[in-house]
Amino acid sequence: MRSVDEHLADVLSVVKPLHPLEVGLLDAHGCILAEDVVAAAPLPGFDNSSMDGYAVRTADLAQVPTVLPVVGDVAAGPASPLRVQPGLCVRIMTGAVMPIGADAVVPVEWTDGGIAQVRIDRRPDVGAYVRRTGEEVTAGEVVLKTGSHLGSAQIGLAAAVGRARLFVRPRPRVVVVSTGSELVEAGTPLQPGQLPDSNSLALTTACIEAGAIAYRVGIIPDDGRKLLDALEDQLVRADLLVTSGGVSVGAYDVVKEVLSRLGTVGFHKVAMQPGMPQGFGTIGPDSTPVFALPGNPVSALVSFETFVRPALRRMLGADQIARPMLSAETSVDLQSPAGKRSYLRVWLEVRDGKYVVAPVSGPGSHLVVGMARANALALVPEAVEQIPAGSAVQVMLLERRGQ
Ligand code: AMP
Ligand code: MG
Repeated sequence: MRSVDEHLADVLSVVKPLHPLEVGLLDAHGCILAEDVVAAAPLPGFDNSSMDGYAVRTADLAQVPTVLPVVGDVAAGPASPLRVQPGLCVRIMTGAVMPIGADAVVPVEWTDGGIAQVRIDRRPDVGAYVRRTGEEVTAGEVVLKTGSHLGSAQIGLAAAVGRARLFVRPRPRVVVVSTGSELVEAGTPLQPGQLPDSNSLALTTACIEAGAIAYRVGIIPDDGRKLLDALEDQLVRADLLVTSGGVSVGAYDVVKEVLSRLGTVGFHKVAMQPGMPQGFGTIGPDSTPVFALPGNPVSALVSFETFVRPALRRMLGADQIARPMLSAETSVDLQSPAGKRSYLRVWLEVRDGKYVVAPVSGPGSHLVVGMARANALALVPEAVEQIPAGSAVQVMLLERRGQ
């Protein structure tokens, strides 16, 4: 039996960040930047107004209220810059180029809004409501550093400094296969002994949530030849393979049989509950990593969280490969088998300013309802068999959107 930490260390010694690739901005979203992005030009690129109002010479507003003739109109967009002579002003819109000679903008709210002439009630400071060239970013400045996560704001910034493409670590392409002669496509009427293949759906979407591109191959029966053929077919498009089922010691556990003969794949008992039988190694000409996860649906997902997700985050080039963890108080006694790390499905909430958890199901690795209701996993260490109510437990936060 090996520990969770030993198995994870084995996985992370094999899995490396993917080689950078240049992609368009929309494809870069969610990826990790693999270059420093330098602004080729200053930001703002030209002096412009931050308000709708009037571009003025502040020297003309020694006394207010005062009335100035309006000699032109300037909107956002390309135009040769206007000039404002002393004693005159120009109506200006947000984002429009500042006229030559003007040194401030009077917001329309400080005026009567006139078109041929305008009454100005307040005097702005020099430079008021003008965004100066290079005020935010100077040409040559690094605006995004290597290793940055590219969310929507970072993608917008890259576009704002004139980039259409970026070097990023690409999203890993994951092929998900489920094995078991008892499995049928979800939605198919069931014969006795059959059940819907839920793992390939759960694992494919879990890969997507982790930032990967996932291809769901679906069901392969417990037949060594068919499994081998499928894996060989899929290797060309996979940076990583994930199988579920067939890794225990049963007579028809063909994944273990077939994969242990290929590449460097090893099968281990890992001291965790759920998820004890685990296969991992590399296969094929490119030494593609492969995870052979246990078939019980909760075991498959907990194994994904524990080993596959960190591997995918590593391939993406992320610094933070682990889920966020926090310490919470358990509201009931928690039990765990000796010598194993337990991953209990819990609901985490804030009560009286404290994080509190309670289990949402029993420990069984087939209890899919509990897994779907949980928003966190409580981790009970190997050496601990009981955590009494009111004590602290470490909790891994799961992804729950819209809550
Ligand atoms: P195995 O690891 O193949 O021995 O499977 C363990 C248990 O998980 C059995 O009850 C299987 O029927 C079930 N199982 C295996 N694969 C899947 C799957 N893809 N979807 C749902 N249940 C599965
Ligand atoms: Mg099976």
